[in-house]
Amino acid sequence: MIIGSHVSFGKEQIYNATKEAISYGANTFMIYTGAPQNTVRSEINIEYLNKAKELMKENNIDINNVIAHAPYIINLANKSKIESWYFSINFLKKEIKRCEVLGIKYIVLHPGSHVSHTKEEGIQNIIDALNLVISDNDKCMILLETMAGKGSEVGSNILELKEIIEGLKIKNIGICLDTCHLNDSGIDIANFDNYLEEFDKIIGIDKIKCVHVNDSKNAISSHKDRHENIGYGTIGFTNLINVINNPKLKDIPKILETPYVSSKDKDKDMPPYKLEIEMIRNNKFNPNLKEDLIKLYK
Ligand code: FE
Ligand code: FE
Ligand code: ZN
Repeated sequence: MIIGSHVSFGKEQIYNATKEAISYGANTFMIYTGAPQNTVRSEINIEYLNKAKELMKENNIDINNVIAHAPYIINLANKSKIESWYFSINFLKKEIKRCEVLGIKYIVLHPGSHVSHTKEEGIQNIIDALNLVISDNDKCMILLETMAGKGSEVGSNILELKEIIEGLKIKNIGICLDTCHLNDSGIDIANFDNYLEEFDKIIGIDKIKCVHVNDSKNAISSHKDRHENIGYGTIGFTNLINVINNPKLKDIPKILETPYVSSKDKDKDMPPYKLEIEMIRNNKFNPNLKEDLIKLYK
C-alpha cells in the first residue's frame, strides 16, 4: 500500500515535508511547492533536497510516488483576462520545472473554472493552455484532477476530461481521482468498480496516477467539495477502504487531504493523518479519532 497525506513544504522545504510524512507513518506524500493560495515561491535549496533524499531512502519513500499539487489560483479555463490566463500558463511551466529539480514525477492540477465562458469554451481554453505548457521532454507529468463540479468547474465528469486529453498535441498527461469530488459530482463510491470500468472504456485506467482519498461532508451530487475525515462522512469507511485496496489501483499512490481536527485551542488544530493511516492499514474504523488525537498531540 502506497499511502500518505498532504504535508507542508516548510522552511526546509521538501526536507520538512519528508519529516512530516514519516511522523505519520506514511510511505509517500503530497506537497504544494509553496502556499497553495498564492504564487510566492522560494528557490529550491539543494542542501535540504539532498537531506530529504537521504531521509526518504532510509524510510523507504520512493520519490516516484511523491506528488505535487499546483496552486488553486492557476485557472487555465478562463481567458476573459488574457494576462491572467498567460500568467497561469507561465506559472504552471515554472512549477513543472521546480518539480523536475525536486525529482517529483507528477503534479496535480485542477482543470479550471470557465466563469463567464461556456463550458465548451472553457474546455477549449484548457486545451490551448496545456498545449503551450506541455512539452515532449517534461520529466514531470500533469495529472488532471476529477472535480466536484462546484461553481463553473470543468472536469467533473469523465467525458470532459477525455475531451481535454483528446485536444492535446502531446498526450503526456494523467488523471488524479479524488473520492470526495467523485461523490459530490454524482459518482456512487459504493459502486466504484463500475466507475473504474467506465473510466477504462472512455479514458483508459492506465492514465490514473494518483488517488486523493477523502470522505465527503455532503451527499452524492451535492457539487460542494468539502472534505471529511476517513469514515466520518457520507462515503464511509468501507467504501473508501475498497477504493484504497482496489487491485486495479494497487501501485497507485493514495493521498489523504482530510481536514485537521479542531481542538479547543483554535490555532492548534490537529493533523488526523497518523491515525487515519493507522485505520487504513489495520482496516479498522476508529470511532474515537478526535479523543485519540488529543491524547497524541497533548
Ligand atoms: Fe486538488
Ligand atoms: Fe483532491
Ligand atoms: Zn477538494
